[in-house]
Amino acid sequence: MQLPGGLVEDGARRRDWAFRPLSGALELALAEAGENAASTPQAVTRALSLALDQLAGAAASPARVAGLCVADRQFLMRELERHLGHAGGWFQADCGQCGARFDFHLDYADLPVQDAADGYPQAQVDIDGRPLRFRLPTGADQEILAGLPPAQAGTWLLRQLASEPEALGGLDPAQTAAVDAALEAMAPAIVLGVQAACPACGRANDVELDPYRALARRSDELLHEVHHLAAHYHWSEAEILGLPRQRRQRYLQMIDRARGLAE
Ligand SMILES: [Zn+2]
Repeated sequence: MQLPGGLVEDGARRRDWAFRPLSGALELALAEAGENAASTPQAVTRALSLALDQLAGAAASPARVAGLCVADRQFLMRELERHLGHAGGWFQADCGQCGARFDFHLDYADLPVQDAADGYPQAQVDIDGRPLRFRLPTGADQEILAGLPPAQAGTWLLRQLASEPEALGGLDPAQTAAVDAALEAMAPAIVLGVQAACPACGRANDVELDPYRALARRSDELLHEVHHLAAHYHWSEAEILGLPRQRRQRYLQMIDRARGLAE
């Protein structure tokens, strides 16, 4: 599936991408990217740079990954979750009516993806009778925003997005809303929330779907598996991390089975 937005470089829009094959080394690097980054946008840039074999026809450098619009990054992070073997997931919700906590399962393949509209990644808005152009925010914008005081963030971002920031006086709230609406109408999007029925009382609840769940995986479990295999077979860390995950899991099962027979 193509990127819903894509990278526009030298006037050409490209939407192709491919992940590297999954190995233990990549799984570990991804887990550590999530653990060590200063902010979520930075973790997303690192994780996608590690995981992508190519992006829009060239190497997925951190700068190019950061240049993707927010929806493309969310799309790729959800695809990464699938690449890591989680075609969907169990999500938890608290019912707004009866308070019951419940789990529901969701298949990512069932969720629609909205492609960008004409003009991507820019939208035109009339400000005081002048047509001004604004672009969609990217990961690079998000990385800087994460370090700004919330009170400054809105004004800073609007000036970043304007093609002629000097033509931008102080925008009033209605003008700011017009810019938001124009960008939203053109922007690609993935589904960030669903309705789930409470099994106890039947009420439909709105539930948020975190697009960055792939970042939540920790390295502890994988390191424990490496430790277990190294102790048993005396393979090196690099050899074990070079195994495809399925084969690693099968060796772990064999160790368990052999231990079960011995007891
Ligand atoms: Zn309920």
